[in-house]
Amino acid sequence: MIKTKKQGLLIVVSGPSGCGKSTLDNLILKKRQNIVMSISDTTRSIRGEEVNGVDYNFITKEQFEENIKNDKYLEYAIVHSNKYYGTPSEFVDNKLNEGIDVILEIDIEGARKVNKKRKDAVFIFILPPSMKILKERLISRKTETKEQVIERFKTAYKEINEVSTYNYVIVNDDIETALEKMNAIITCEKCRVDRIEDVDLGNQEEIIHEILMDLK
Ligand code: 5GP
Repeated sequence: MIKTKKQGLLIVVSGPSGCGKSTLDNLILKKRQNIVMSISDTTRSIRGEEVNGVDYNFITKEQFEENIKNDKYLEYAIVHSNKYYGTPSEFVDNKLNEGIDVILEIDIEGARKVNKKRKDAVFIFILPPSMKILKERLISRKTETKEQVIERFKTAYKEINEVSTYNYVIVNDDIETALEKMNAIITCEKCRVDRIEDVDLGNQEEIIHEILMDLK
């Protein structure tokens, strides 16, 4: 038999604020088995209906900097408004070793850092159908101030230029289609030949002998 790696797949998802990546990630968690989201640490303040320990671990700048010193992050970056965001490495490593796939929803700078450390990760970029639609989504979700919307919109323009450094792109114009594509990407990645760990086809002579006996 062909044995594939027990190791889970590391899936990095990026895209501008408002492209629908969180919705997509949550749907993929419901659709697939053995897959989790990594919960990032952040120094930004809690927003809307967010829950500490679920959406993010909301920690202080001092705690974050202490964690950096102690090498606790697979990657970290300063994203919007000089706030730290980081992926705790222990959780990710444990899950991958248990054979569970892990999604990191991180910005492009963080993705670049993961790319240097983890060559086996898959990088997916989510795009909005157009910048006009992105603008409408950002305004209508009403979770950011006017200044924050503008900042996020500017960041989106910069981020979209990086799309070619990812392995896959999904244009999120219809959530069901986007979900289907993301699911297909993960399934394909898990079938890659470089995930083969061991090939044991059995003893050829013995099997030929069995064939001869069966066909007697
Ligand atoms: P928000 O503040 O809207 O939740 O997230 C802002 C940005 O930070 C998003 O682009 C999100 O993908 C990114 N982000 C969230 N967690 C992490 C993380 O752990 N590391 C990095 N590098 N970016 C993150």
